[in-house]
Amino acid sequence: MKVLTGQGISEGIASGKILFYKRAASQNEKWDVEDTEAEWNRFETARGIAILKLQELSKRAVKDSGQEGALIFEAYQMLLQDPSYIEEVRSIVKEQRVNAEYAISVVSQRLFAIFSEKKEPCAQGRGADIKDVSQCVIDILLGIESGVSELCIDQPVILVADDISPSEIMKIDKENVLGIVTWEGTPCSHTAVLAKIMGIPMMICQGERVGSEYEGVSAVMDGSAGRLYMEPDEATREEMLHKKEKARGRRDRLLGLKGKESITQSGQKIALYANAGDLEDIEAAIQNDAEGIGLLRSEAFYLERAAFPTEEQQFQIYKEAAERMKGKKVIIRSLDLGADKQVDYFPLDKETNPALGYRGIRICLARPDIFKTQLRALLRASIYGKIGILLPMITSVDEVKESKKMLEETKEELERDGVEFDKNIEIGVMIETPAAVMESRALAKEVDFFSVGTNDLTQYTLAVDRQSPRLKQFYDTHHPAVLAMLQMASESAHAEGKRIAICGELASDLELIETFLGMGIEELSVAPSMILPLRKKIREIK
Ligand code: PEP
Ligand code: MG
Repeated sequence: MKVLTGQGISEGIASGKILFYKRAASQNEKWDVEDTEAEWNRFETARGIAILKLQELSKRAVKDSGQEGALIFEAYQMLLQDPSYIEEVRSIVKEQRVNAEYAISVVSQRLFAIFSEKKEPCAQGRGADIKDVSQCVIDILLGIESGVSELCIDQPVILVADDISPSEIMKIDKENVLGIVTWEGTPCSHTAVLAKIMGIPMMICQGERVGSEYEGVSAVMDGSAGRLYMEPDEATREEMLHKKEKARGRRDRLLGLKGKESITQSGQKIALYANAGDLEDIEAAIQNDAEGIGLLRSEAFYLERAAFPTEEQQFQIYKEAAERMKGKKVIIRSLDLGADKQVDYFPLDKETNPALGYRGIRICLARPDIFKTQLRALLRASIYGKIGILLPMITSVDEVKESKKMLEETKEELERDGVEFDKNIEIGVMIETPAAVMESRALAKEVDFFSVGTNDLTQYTLAVDRQSPRLKQFYDTHHPAVLAMLQMASESAHAEGKRIAICGELASDLELIETFLGMGIEELSVAPSMILPLRKKIREIK
């Protein structure tokens, strides 16, 4: 028996024969072109075909993985329509007088390198998306039908590859793919997301790579532990089978909680909302029976663009979020740029301590043009569902008053323009700085609700950079000081008859549910996948 270890990505046990994925060779050669206009037209034609193919993949994804998977390919189409991407390819073709395949690969490699350097693993996933979508266009130009569609998988297998892209995963005959093993990729890549939503166990191996000498051998893979057993012995086989049956039982019990209340046995309710970074997460929230969206991080829509999103673009996104949640609350956080969230089109001065710098509400109040555009979009979208506005990084009552003043001015402008909006739209503040906790009683008088951002609150309370892996041992989310801050914020909210939610990572800490119930926290907003496990835990509490 040979055992490969790595990171568990998508849980589940797969047992079957190993099949190595062989990708059709795609040579990105460079050659000179005389007629750059004709070459440019070649690119444009291939780009058009690629968009049509992605539309097809999108439709297929709806069938295989629901709306969440489809949105990945919709985002791909948007990448291919990005003016800065197109312009960069155009200028290489025209100025260097070279073939389109080469120009695309230069742009794709450049963007991939930029995203690979970013610290957050999710940014690296975005680099992989650009590479994937660019390869689709190159393959069309070269007349190659890339990927696994060529690989006829006619028996159940564990698919092993250096890496698999989202578009390749969609072309696989899923019926016969029991598990996926790669060496490259990240846990938040879209390949990982698709594997999870399609329920295909997946792991990313670390260390030794094996080759075709293992083609066809029988294997068992554990997608949660990140282990691949090749030619397993009888005891391992039995153990994995047992684990599989236990997991199936657990999953069925969790799914049975959809539509049930999040209520303790003594009758105390705590609403379970979902955090979302984009529309894909909203779909996941619906699938997991979220009672609302407790934190939609709107900066995600700014981070993915080459320029500030217009009022209309934002309006469409917020409207869609509100409509999809069908009247359930959608709390949208106003722009929280700065620190780890930077965009090229809005360069910020270099700061020694960016986490303590020009960020969040400080930027919004200094730049009413940016803030009011967002407020207009939020207000316009508010008639399509139940939107609430959440202000980030608040440290004083004055910041809230000033924000509310801008909100009122925006409402007046809309009224003058005869544009409809929800006149009772709720406004809340993130409690994520110690100052906000100490001022919580006064803040509670100004707003409709609190939402505690424990990620930043822990960082600022304990003076520990949340981004630093080196300081992990000091980033103690259960620290008595953090819990005391929560307690104080909760007392202030309730003293003023206001609601309090937690939307930081701590909200999904199963060990702390009883503490939160004891504090009278009304709502927890968590990753969609945590909703049903939390509901189970709450319903078990006496
Ligand atoms: C938080 O700080 O806990 C929070 C939810 O906001 P973010 O993680 O986006 O800073
Ligand atoms: Mg925060």
